[in-house]
Amino acid sequence: GAVALLRGVSKVFDNGVVALAGVDLAVAAGELVGVVGPSGSGKSTLLNVLGTLDRPSSGEVLVDGEDVAALSDRALSALRAHRIGFVFQRFHLTAGKTALDSVADGLLYTGTRRPERLRRAGDVLGRVGLGDRLAHRPHQLSGGERQRVAIARAVVGRPALLLADEPTGNLDSESGTRVLEVLRGLHVGGTAVVVITHDLDIAARLPRQVHLRDGRVTG
Ligand code: ADP
Ligand code: ADP
Repeated sequence: GAVALLRGVSKVFDNGVVALAGVDLAVAAGELVGVVGPSGSGKSTLLNVLGTLDRPSSGEVLVDGEDVAALSDRALSALRAHRIGFVFQRFHLTAGKTALDSVADGLLYTGTRRPERLRRAGDVLGRVGLGDRLAHRPHQLSGGERQRVAIARAVVGRPALLLADEPTGNLDSESGTRVLEVLRGLHVGGTAVVVITHDLDIAARLPRQVHLRDGRVTG
């Protein structure tokens, strides 16, 4: 089944703005999908709904088989913490923290013991090409390397779904390409990845694109 499933999802804000209007979307395990559209087309709203940060006004949202409408806010927080990873345009890495510790922090709420947290953090950092940067702190890393640390932290808990909001937005094209390669590599672990972008060139390099306009999927 789909890791993320939207059926007839609409979102109307209190001010009457219709940000999503009957969106259907299914993302399978291991799939990498780009959601592309101009500013105001509903991308962030879609990401917030997929990430269970926001509830739809109508329609159905299933994440990893769970019907979001049936879950309490508390159960939703648990779902987010354990099954969804988030990556943003501006990566929030704690100043002074090594890459290894930052990534290991991604397992803090899983009950994993520290030696195992560090082992898995080192393993995932190797997979994103940062095996030689474990002890580096954010100021010693390039923007692209910092973004790869943020991705490693987001996936170290092996979420079913990774949501990336303009993950290459702050990067030069070479670093951006590297980040796209890393996102492409995640399907090996079975993680479904949804990349939000307004950049048609970035979207064109992803295996599947979903186009949004005025809150509707246009193709
Ligand atoms: P995008 O990410 O593609 O730029 P958004 O999802 O941010 O699009 O916005 C879609 C529409 O919803 C826009 O018209 C925007 O102004 C509106 N919108 C977004 N968030 C809110 C909000 N919290 N309250 C009211 N309107 C909103
Ligand atoms: P194991 O449980 O023995 O590690 P898996 O098949 O679960 O075997 O994983 C194989 C490899 O893939 C491991 O090295 C693991 O760390 C890595 N891996 C699994 N899921 C992910 C993921 N979401 N992101 C990055 N690496 C992952």
